[in-house]
Amino acid sequence: YPKQKPVVSLMRERLSKEILDLLKQIGHVARDMGFGVFVVGGFVRDLLLRRQNDDIDIVIEGDGITFAKAFAEMMGARINTYTKFGTSVIIFPDGFKVDVATARMEYYPSPAALPEVETSSIKLDLYRRDFTINTLAIRLDPDGFGTLTDFFNGQRDIKEKRIRILHNLSFVEDPTRVFRAIKFEQRFGFTIGKVTREMIKNAIHLDVFRELGGLRVFNEFRQILEEENPIPSILRIFDLGLMEIIHPGITRHNELIDQLDEAKKVLAWHDLMYTDEPIERWIIYFLTLLAPCDREVSEVVARRLMLPPKYRKILTEERFHARGAYTWLTHGLPAANSDLHRQLSPLRTELLLYVMAISKGEAIKKSISHYMSQLRHITLSIRGRDLKTLGLKPGPRYGEILADTLAAKLDGQLKDRDDELAFAAGYL
Ligand code: ATP
Repeated sequence: YPKQKPVVSLMRERLSKEILDLLKQIGHVARDMGFGVFVVGGFVRDLLLRRQNDDIDIVIEGDGITFAKAFAEMMGARINTYTKFGTSVIIFPDGFKVDVATARMEYYPSPAALPEVETSSIKLDLYRRDFTINTLAIRLDPDGFGTLTDFFNGQRDIKEKRIRILHNLSFVEDPTRVFRAIKFEQRFGFTIGKVTREMIKNAIHLDVFRELGGLRVFNEFRQILEEENPIPSILRIFDLGLMEIIHPGITRHNELIDQLDEAKKVLAWHDLMYTDEPIERWIIYFLTLLAPCDREVSEVVARRLMLPPKYRKILTEERFHARGAYTWLTHGLPAANSDLHRQLSPLRTELLLYVMAISKGEAIKKSISHYMSQLRHITLSIRGRDLKTLGLKPGPRYGEILADTLAAKLDGQLKDRDDELAFAAGYL
């Protein structure tokens, strides 16, 4: 039997009224359809840890898809359904999402002439999960609303701050769980349990990662790099010899820790200065890790991780443009605004931050900061059609003239639109 305990008051204390009402409604509708219903996984874990988490994962004992359809219709929401997996996502008009999974009734033949045994299907569903801390469920049906249901001692492991797998073949079954163990360990300040640690070593020894799909490694690795502070996890990955799964050429060289620390500082600076500019933080750490690697290694890594085209291009091409800019900056400072702009404008923000992270001393950082805060926002008030009005025949020359005019403006030679027109007219 699972351990059970009421957590309604914790739910009232920690959850918004909207979420609490939504969970109650889910419970009512599922009960009326004759289904068992639970909220499970990370949401429950984070509730007990008093951490904010709005990712609601529902497990229906019965037919999750039928439930999701009915609930979505009632709420005026849409759904996406994956029949093969018995899962749906309910998407509310404001974009809020709820995942719904199905725990099928499972029957096990029992010995002799005894009838088949119906095993609690929620338990089987939870048994397939990665760690005990993610196996907690809360009943949502009106009669049992708010009953924490703990089959695998998840509560104890949360109390004792331990990451523990559910069975010894867990990492063989799904090696990406090794990365997840490291992520959760660092995020919560937990420790990977002793047996679980042994099983990680065992999995590495058995080389279970060889067959692992690149995209899955990429997704887990990216998630680690997106954590608030990924540096301890990165070091743990090196310690366990796991970086070799991505590429043996990614090494823990002498300057790496300093560079990663620098990346973290640069990101904190960006958060502070450019709150509204969304960036992909993981890219900066990823590029910093790969900084010493050549093109060939980049190509292999891109293939190994099955990187989508955008990221492949960043890794195998844009990173080298950034390198070029970095080399130029180490020799070319102080520089005219127009030169700085020419060097830095082809680089997306993530690459600018990467260059800041790998640069030593303040001069390069200051120049990039100057570019980001001032220069990149400077644009011309004239455009192609103004050149046409001036009597210039349309053609490739337009681009050059506008670039030169912008350079003059960046260097402070042109004050207003008339200055720009006069400057461009000089080319006639
Ligand atoms: P995060 O807070 O980083 O989003 P999470 O655990 O809340 O982590 P997901 O990574 O989206 O959220 O996973 C949702 C649930 O699915 C987890 O709670 C876990 O039980 C289960 N899960 C995810 N990945 C695996 C896996 N590789 N093996 C087993 N269970 C998994």
